[in-house]
Amino acid sequence: QKAEWQLLKTAASVTADGKHFDVAANIGTPKDLDGVLANGAEGIGLYRTEFLYMDSAELPTEDDQFEAYKKVLETMNPKPVVVRTMDIGGDKHLPYLPLPDEQNPFLGYRAIRISLDRQDIFRTQLRALLRASAFGNLRIMFPMIATIQEFEAAKKVFLEEKDNLVKAGVKVSDSIQLGIMIEIPAAAVLADQFAKHVDFFSIGTNDLIQYTMAADRGNDRVSYLYQPYNPSILRLIKHVIDSAHKEGKWAGMCGEAAGDPIMVPLLLGLGLDEYSMSATSVLRVRSLMKKLSTADMAEMAEKALNDSISNDENKALVEKYTAAK
Ligand code: PEP
Ligand code: MG
Repeated sequence: QKAEWQLLKTAASVTADGKHFDVAANIGTPKDLDGVLANGAEGIGLYRTEFLYMDSAELPTEDDQFEAYKKVLETMNPKPVVVRTMDIGGDKHLPYLPLPDEQNPFLGYRAIRISLDRQDIFRTQLRALLRASAFGNLRIMFPMIATIQEFEAAKKVFLEEKDNLVKAGVKVSDSIQLGIMIEIPAAAVLADQFAKHVDFFSIGTNDLIQYTMAADRGNDRVSYLYQPYNPSILRLIKHVIDSAHKEGKWAGMCGEAAGDPIMVPLLLGLGLDEYSMSATSVLRVRSLMKKLSTADMAEMAEKALNDSISNDENKALVEKYTAAK
């Protein structure tokens, strides 16, 4: 098995019926790049930039951020790198940025909500990203987007900072895609509208499942409700993918589910374009994809969405379809 995986390191991710998909990696810091290269990921699908903020004693400067982003973009070039703007709040805190005490931090002041409120912090990050964009294939993604207005507000700030840099003679890329995480059910439901505004979607199942099932992703007592294969979750995912495709956009996934051997066959059946996971899962998923045909997986996904009534039933369905593969 290990030998077969080694051969796949430099291969593209292709299914048994010859369809190509992108298998990308999630990183938290430039240090994670070694693992990404060692496993032959076809890009970075999620760079969680909050670690830059969490590993620092104060707000990281524009130059500190620029160096980190540049390193990742240069190392991966020409492969795409999706950088997510700061996702602080919820369970992630910064000693130097006191957040209000909240009854429900996961439903509170976090991620894009902080960025749009603290534009000083947001603009610094966007400037660092824009300057780094000259060194590779940058895509920027906003976390925890609930409304189209939030996306438009974030895009406006981005365009203002871009304009300022261009006027100052700084070299920035003209082809930076702007996308959003789909991790709030409101955004998933409205994906057909969002798709007219954004360049891409990346589905964040870690949060999307917790918000859809109303089950805290870190609470063992309700973990039985944390159901990636629940038909409700699969229907949301299908709607997001179909909505993207209708507008000629791409849809990826960067939650844990994207590297899960039960979920991947379902996602192939639903036509997900990009799968981003921890680097150590890349070769396993590439190897799995090689054995599956998208036509079979589409037939299976159809059943999972419409006939099945439970997470467990869908798990068994996938196991049946992929047995001996
Ligand atoms: C997610 O919610 O699925 C996600 C990828 O983001 P995080 O795990 O950082 O919240
Ligand atoms: Mg999330």
